[in-house]
Amino acid sequence: MAVAQMEIASQFSVAYKRAILATMHDKERVIRPLLEGGLGLQIVLPAGFDTDRFGTFSREIERTGSQLGAARAKIEASFEHDRQAQVAIASEGSFGPHPFIPFVPLGREIVVLRDRESGLELIGHHADLSTNFSHETVKTVEAARVFAERIGFPQHGLIVIGLSDANPAPEKYLRKDTWTFPELSQSVSEALALCGAAHVETDMRAHRNPTRMRAIKRATIDLVRCYRSACPRCTRPGFAVTERLDGLPCAWCGEPTHALRAEVSTCSGCGHRIERPAEPRTADPGQCLGCNP
Ligand SMILES: [Zn+2]
Ligand SMILES: [Zn+2]
Repeated sequence: MAVAQMEIASQFSVAYKRAILATMHDKERVIRPLLEGGLGLQIVLPAGFDTDRFGTFSREIERTGSQLGAARAKIEASFEHDRQAQVAIASEGSFGPHPFIPFVPLGREIVVLRDRESGLELIGHHADLSTNFSHETVKTVEAARVFAERIGFPQHGLIVIGLSDANPAPEKYLRKDTWTFPELSQSVSEALALCGAAHVETDMRAHRNPTRMRAIKRATIDLVRCYRSACPRCTRPGFAVTERLDGLPCAWCGEPTHALRAEVSTCSGCGHRIERPAEPRTADPGQCLGCNP
């Protein structure tokens, strides 16, 4: 039995495989050591591979489709770019308002790995409320300085865009690489002279956003964890929580509440499914619609 399991495991192993990591903006700095150390991959960085054509954060190229879709498109293009690569890795971030909490931004990072031969696809996730995602319309250089200080400039980068009809208009004015307050003042002055108002926003490119770089690292750690979590039946990596079930019974009346009842892990290879009940096994009556109307 043990021998058979070893054979199946090696079928999905990515150790010693040539892996293309198509990334820009220094993201390899956090991704590479984790995937070489944690998965045994041999990471290669493609030369002359422009991932910005899949969409950038500063609006020159609108991002199309979903975050996972964008990562998969990068993986496809990577395999085409490097015919020898057995594995491809792509990282993708998305930022926007939190779906449930008003005025709170949420950052989501994914790092996706695909094995060309076995078809194995693993996704590392990280969601973060501490994401540094923000923007403001300014009409004076002073207002831009206040915003810049608040978002942690110059450690965190800032993008200055001209405003036209109340909308950011990068075709009129766009300045990405300001590194000092004097440079910032100058580019805001230029945008104001040209457009009357400027849109300043946090630079979400990883090398200019240390908060984001940390989030990418956490998503990569999640990918390593995902790889090491093998299906107990077929040993395929990536046996992860795929579903969260609510309906935890109320401690007083026993009626189902909206609290988490169980986490379900499913194998994408053989379909094996395990339901892990939540702890504690009953919900606080404060979460019960009957006992706490
Ligand atoms: Zn399985
Ligand atoms: Zn109750």
